[in-house]
Amino acid sequence: MVNLRIAEVLRNGQPDESLVVQGWVRTKRELKGFAFIEVNDGSSLASLQVVINEDLPEYDSVLKKLNTGASVEVAGVLVTSQGKGQRVELKANKVTVYGEADPDTYPLQKKRHSFEFLRTIGHLRSRTNSFGAVFRVRNACSTAIHQFFQQRGFLWVHTPIITANDCEGAGELFSVTSLDLKDVPRKENKAVDYGKDFFSKPTYLTVSGQLEAEVMATAFTNVYTFGPTFRAENSNTSRHLAEFWMVEPEMAFCDLKGDMDLAEAFLKHIFKYVMETCAEDMEFFNQRIDNTVIATAENIINNEFERVTYTEAIKLLEKADVKFEYPVSWGLDLQSEHERYLAEQLFKKPTIVTNYPVQIKAFYMRLDDDEKTVAAMDILAPKIGEIIGGSQREERLEILERRILAQGMKPEDLWWYLDLRRFGTVPHAGFGLGFERLVQFMTGMGNIRDVIPFPRTPESAEF
Ligand code: ATP
Ligand code: MN
Repeated sequence: MVNLRIAEVLRNGQPDESLVVQGWVRTKRELKGFAFIEVNDGSSLASLQVVINEDLPEYDSVLKKLNTGASVEVAGVLVTSQGKGQRVELKANKVTVYGEADPDTYPLQKKRHSFEFLRTIGHLRSRTNSFGAVFRVRNACSTAIHQFFQQRGFLWVHTPIITANDCEGAGELFSVTSLDLKDVPRKENKAVDYGKDFFSKPTYLTVSGQLEAEVMATAFTNVYTFGPTFRAENSNTSRHLAEFWMVEPEMAFCDLKGDMDLAEAFLKHIFKYVMETCAEDMEFFNQRIDNTVIATAENIINNEFERVTYTEAIKLLEKADVKFEYPVSWGLDLQSEHERYLAEQLFKKPTIVTNYPVQIKAFYMRLDDDEKTVAAMDILAPKIGEIIGGSQREERLEILERRILAQGMKPEDLWWYLDLRRFGTVPHAGFGLGFERLVQFMTGMGNIRDVIPFPRTPESAEF
């Protein structure tokens, strides 16, 4: 007898087919002479309805064990369902209970639980409809990302998680050390003696793989990273995690326009792929979480993104008839309220803001001819704010050295990065996509803690 995943049975199963499924019981309904159980194995939002007749051997004792959360294997024959809600159901010939779940103590009973409560049972929450849908969509987003880049000949490169670069400037760093914190070796001037540490120097968890991606792009032309990044920023928001995943393409022989074009095609591809492969889950989000997610996905797939310069954006914000908490003026780093006004209220679609003031952006972004702005671009999404941040990189050695010094950093520390400009330098550009922000945007989930299986946030590293 074939062992099938439930999604496959629901999609293609035919009456009279004999098969075996395995999964966890979602619900049980006992009627006179028979019972229905809903079995879910995580392959789809919908569960498979199983009909168990009282003539099954040991009917009473088996049924007593089939509570919500129990793990089962059912062998049976598919029949056309009499009830509405499903095309086929499985008539059980043999039910094996692997593990019971005591209804008095199993925390997931058949009712709606709040996301706050579900965070306290992070080891069980993936067994709910909402988290099942989130993690299937998260998986589809990952697949779409690799597909997009692989189809275009980009090399997936693995950049280090432990790094000695403390100069990327993207956020607060987590230190990595093997020193004994109870007895830290110190130099005469009391400073920590990192010479005795594992790497003989201070090291950190990476905040971005970009600088290393630039190394690889100057050999392979087009590359991307897709891996975990870490920021010890103490911002307890619904959009920040201490550990999150980032996608960072880097393209040689590419300018800011090429960067924007790629980023736009990239987002369109991911939304299209998810809408095609996770239709049922997307429908669920639209009904239960945020009734705009499908319209938003269609908007993204079918419309060109808005593109404005930072200077134009500031003018539009100054003209806006809303009162912002942070007053608007040229030179200001756009705050979430400004980003959301532009994308959500004004343009009502993803908006690419370009050419930001040099003072508020990183040293590696290419200086524009007016020397006031840099060739940076952020993509702002309705509801989320910044989802992608990118730039054309400074490829001119002298200017890059000047910018490094201006930020109080030492060019010697970045000797290898500067070598890329000394030997065969090339215009190049790239961007970073916060993967969880994308999943939030896709699903309408309000809190970033609910789109990653094991969220790490200030004061919380449970499970
Ligand atoms: P923000 O202003 O929202 O904190 P940022 O300017 O620090 O973002 P970048 O340094 O440009 O962000 O990082 C690249 C991308 O990574 C961002 O566009 C965003 O999507 C995502 N990102 C940044 N910080 C976090 C975080 N703490 N948790 C989850 N995603 C993040
Ligand atoms: Mn930040």
